[in-house]
Amino acid sequence: MHDQNIVEALRPVLKHKVKENTEEDIMLCYQCGKCSAGCPLIDEMDIAPNQILRMLQTEIPELEEKVLKSLAIWLCLACEQCYSRCPKDVDLPKIMDYLRAESIRRDLVNPKAKEILAFHKSFLDSVRLTGKLYEIGLIAGYKMRTMHLLQDVNVAPTMYFNGKLNLFPSQVKNKKAIKRIFEKALREEENK
Ligand code: SF4
Ligand code: SF4
Repeated sequence: MHDQNIVEALRPVLKHKVKENTEEDIMLCYQCGKCSAGCPLIDEMDIAPNQILRMLQTEIPELEEKVLKSLAIWLCLACEQCYSRCPKDVDLPKIMDYLRAESIRRDLVNPKAKEILAFHKSFLDSVRLTGKLYEIGLIAGYKMRTMHLLQDVNVAPTMYFNGKLNLFPSQVKNKKAIKRIFEKALREEENK
C-alpha cells in the first residue's frame, strides 16, 4: 500500500476527532434542517450546515475530505443562530471552528477561502502584538498577505475622521498574559 494511503487508512474518523476536541456529538443531529434554514450565509455556502453534519455522520473519508475542502466552513460567522435554533443543542459554530483548524492541518483549505484565512491571521497578529485589535495593523497585514493594496482605500479617510481608525495601537497592560495564551494554544495545537 502507498504511504499516503496507509496514512489515510489509519486516520481517525473525523466525527470522533470532533467529539474528542469539542465535546460535540455529531450523531445527535437528526437532520431537521432548522440550522440551515436560519443561517444568514446559506445562499453563499457550497454545503449547508446540516449537510456538513450528515456527511460527517457517514464516516466516509471522501465526504469528510469534501467537508474540509468546503468554502462553507470558512463562511460561517459563528453568529450562533443555528445553535440557538437547534432542538438537539448541537453547537455548530464550535464544530465549524474545529473543522477550519483541521482543514489547515491537512492542507485542504478551499482556494476561495485564502483571503478569509489571511484576515484571520492578520487579526491574530494584531492581538498577539498588542493584546487588542489594532485596525491599521490588521488592514496592513491583510493587504500584504493578499496583495489587495488598493482595496477599500477610499473609505479610510472617512473612517479616520469618524474616529473608527486609531493611528497608533493601544496595548493591554499585561502583555505577558497574552503571550502565555498564545503559547498555550500553540502547545495544544501541536498535540492534536
Ligand atoms: S438544527 Fe440541530 S438537529 Fe436540526 S439539522 Fe441542524 S444540527 Fe441537526
Ligand atoms: S454560526 Fe455559522 S452555520 Fe451557524 S447560523 Fe451562523 S453562519 Fe450559519
